[in-house]
Order: sequence, then structure tokens, then C-alpha cells
Amino acid sequence: MRSMADIRLSAIVDNALDGLISINELGIIEHFNPACERIFGYRADEVIGKNIKMLMPEPYHSEHDGYLSHYRKTGEAKIIGTAGREVSAKRKDGSVFPMDLSISAFELEDGLHFSGVIRDITARKQAEEKNALLAAVVASSDDAIISKRLDGTILSWNAGAERLFGYSAAEIIGRHVSVLIPENLRKEEEYIIGRLRQGKSVDHYETARLHKNGRHIDLSLTVSPIHNEAGDIVGASKIARDITAQKKAAAELRRYNIALERSNKELDDFAYIASHDLKEPLRGLFNNAKFLEKDYKDKLDAEGVGRLQRLGYLTQRMETLVNDLLYFSRLGRQELAIQDTDLNAVIRDIESMMEMTLTEQNAIISIPKPLPEIVCDKTRITEIFRNLITNAIKYNNQEKKIIEIGYLDAVKTKTGIEKQVFYVRDNGIGIEEGFHEEIFRIFKRLNEEDDSKKGTGVGLTFVRKIVERHGGRIWLESTPGKGATFYFTINQGAAYEAAA
Ligand code: ADP
Repeated sequence: MRSMADIRLSAIVDNALDGLISINELGIIEHFNPACERIFGYRADEVIGKNIKMLMPEPYHSEHDGYLSHYRKTGEAKIIGTAGREVSAKRKDGSVFPMDLSISAFELEDGLHFSGVIRDITARKQAEEKNALLAAVVASSDDAIISKRLDGTILSWNAGAERLFGYSAAEIIGRHVSVLIPENLRKEEEYIIGRLRQGKSVDHYETARLHKNGRHIDLSLTVSPIHNEAGDIVGASKIARDITAQKKAAAELRRYNIALERSNKELDDFAYIASHDLKEPLRGLFNNAKFLEKDYKDKLDAEGVGRLQRLGYLTQRMETLVNDLLYFSRLGRQELAIQDTDLNAVIRDIESMMEMTLTEQNAIISIPKPLPEIVCDKTRITEIFRNLITNAIKYNNQEKKIIEIGYLDAVKTKTGIEKQVFYVRDNGIGIEEGFHEEIFRIFKRLNEEDDSKKGTGVGLTFVRKIVERHGGRIWLESTPGKGATFYFTINQGAAYEAAA
């Protein structure tokens, strides 16, 4: 008959959350409660009667007999009696896990016995490791990471914060964050706390704070609420990044941009004034040459007349160049007339304008898939396509000239990926790689000896100027003898800015 005390005891043992195990002095398992079954994965009948060593990984497994005999001989405990020692144990599936172990020894008639209380601490260890990792991340972060209570009291302060603000953790923990906030920005803290109380965070908020030495630091702040387990907001974590250098660089860039814009404008103005003023004497030269040719023809020999005619031709050519220069300066000076533009309609217009040339040159324009509608200066964009199409026909010796016009979401270039790219592709003579930059220079031509391909070498210069005024880029790919593809982008946002 089991006594009431026995029954009560075994109910406690069976229902205990901790593993309870007992062994005899030889290490043979005598009792293994249900919690042990859960922890180790063995049923009690699989372990009872076997040596406790089966639950131990190496090196404890091999050393255990030694422990027991040492204890038997000397009564000196290594683990015994020390509550909550952390040891490793082995589950049925071979996996090793950390556990808390307290052992006590007791003497019965048949000899010495040991009982152990076991708690699997895997989850606790994992949490500890995670916390240690997080703490290491915070400690090693270059950013200042601070936590505070909702009333503004600083609770934690990492090395990044020490570097940024100049206060050590010991100096500042427990003080109010307002010591870091410049007088004129104190209202900001109310705004931030207000957002935090609503459970909202503040992301990359650009502001200024005070260094211990009183200097202002430009920084970007991210503040998030900290919740306790019940979900209540109890404080806030702040990450602050020093953006002083970034701000300085941005200001410098703005200055450069303004200077660059001014010098570009001056250049455009100069080109305008110079070419405008050149036109008048040029007209005079031409008129005088014609006048000489007409009135003094009889007084000159054939060579003289020929030279006069050449003079007339050259002044005319120079006038064309001056006009091109004037036009180029206008492209830089004039505001863009931004509007929604259906590029399919643009190409249709060009096609009907160039109908005769296309038929004569046996050229066709193909558009594999409809082009998008974009926001741009329609007249100027028409100019881009007209110039590129004209070149695709002009620099092409094929029987059938094929011009493909398309739009791609992204194109890989030598310098990276360009998005939203237009292209005009031909099957013409192509351009050697060494000239891919040069052809955009004003008055630069590659095929001057071939008179059938008349031009002044300004088309691509105009095209690039228009693309750049739209905030885009132009480049090309070509296999000489097989054809060329001109790619360009139009930054629609920049076009809006230019129009504003
Ligand atoms: P132009 O056609 O008046 O010479 P551009 O600026 O349009 O002036 O072109 C500059 C030069 O680039 C041309 O003279 C020609 O040598 C070369 N080029 C332009 N487009 C093409 C093309 N699609 N294929 C081959 N060469 C081209």
C-alpha cells in the first residue's frame, strides 16, 4: 500500500515542469519523470536501468564514472550541492542542449543515491545570445543609439553617442534629453514625443543637436517607440547619424551647380552675341563678292571669277555655320515648353514629313511596340528623332535601310543600368568606337570626303543638348559595317523643374 505522502509526492514529481531524475551510486537511472521524457525525448522505460552517461555528451560522458567514484571515496562534490549549474546534455536524437542542473545526494539502506532537478535552458540561452549580439551591434555602431523614457530621461547611451555628443554614458544616463536640444528646437521634442505617444515613429528627421562643448551638430534622427510586454509605450529608441559632412558636401554641390549653370549661360550668351555680331560682316562679305562678280567680271580672268565664286560659296557656308551656332545657343537659352507628348504621334508626323526621302532612299521605320506618352518639350523631342532618323538614312549604304525606334525599361551600359531608355537603331555604316564621343562635338563630321552626305556636323550636338536639357543622357553602340544604335533617356522630373 502506498502512503498518502507517497501518492502526493509522486503527483508532484509527475506534474513538475522541471525534469526530475534519480540515479544510484553506480550511475544507473532509477527514476525519470514525464518532464524528463519531454526534455530528453526518451520514454522512462528506455532509460531506467541504464547508465546516466547516455544522457551526457562528451567529455562529461567519459568523465562521469570518475566523478562518482571520487565522490564515493571523498564525499567531495563537484556538481553536487551547487544549485543551478549549467551543463550540457544529450537528447535521444543526439542533439546537445544546455540545461540547469541541481543535484543532491541521499543515503538509503541500499547505498548512496543522487537526485537531479533539470531545466532545459535552450530558449533562455538563445535569448541571451541574441541580446548579447544586439548589445554588440549597438556598442559597435557608428551611429549614436540612445534610449529614453517617455518623460525624456536618458536610459542608455552607446559608444557612438559618446563620440557624437561628447558625453560619456556615466555623465548623461539619468539626465533629460533636453540638454542635447538647442534652445530654438525645443518644440521639436514635443512633436517627437507626441508622435511616439501615438505609437508612431519619426524617420530620418534632419535636425540639429548640441555637442557637450556647445557646438551644433547636423544630424538625421530616427526615433521609434519602445513597447513593454503588455504593449504599452514606455520609452523611445533614437538613432542619430552625423550628417555634418553630408550637409557640407550638398551645399558645396549646390554652389558648384549654380556656378556651372552661370558659366553655361554665359557660354550660351557668348555664342549668341558672337554669332549674331558675326552675321553682319559676313553678309557684307557675301554682298561684296557678288557685287565684284557681277560688275567686274570683264576685268577679271577666269581664275579670278572662279575665286570670287568660291568666296561667295565660303561666306554662304560660314553663314550656315553661324546660324547653327546661333541655334545651338538658343537651345541652351530658351525655356522648354513642357507638355504631355505621345511619341507615336511624333514619329508619325516625322514619317509624313520625310515621306519623299524615305521612299527615295528605300528606307522604312519600324516600331516594334507602341512608344509611351511622356512629359517633354514636344518640338525639341521631334528634333531629336528627326536628326537621328536623318542620320540613320544618310550614313547607310544598304539597299533597304531599316530604322527601328523603340523603348526599353532598362539598358545595361558601361557605367551601370539606365532606366526608361529610347533608341534609334539603323543597319548603316556604323561608327568606330574611338569616335563615339567625338561625333557629338559641334561641327565634327566623320565622312566629309563623301559629298553626297552633306551636313555641318551639328545634328548630334543639338540632339545631345536637347537630351541634357531634359535631364537625360545619350550614348551609342555600334558595330562598324553593321549599323549603329543611339540610346537616350529623358528625365521627366527634371523637365518639369526646367519648366518651372
Ligand atoms: P552631320 O550629319 O551634319 O555630319 P551630325 O552631328 O548629325 O552631323 O553627325 C556627326 C557625324 O557623326 C556625322 O558626320 C557622321 O560621320 C556620324 N554619324 C552620325 N550618325 C550616324 C549614323 N547613324 N551612322 C553612322 N555615322 C553617323
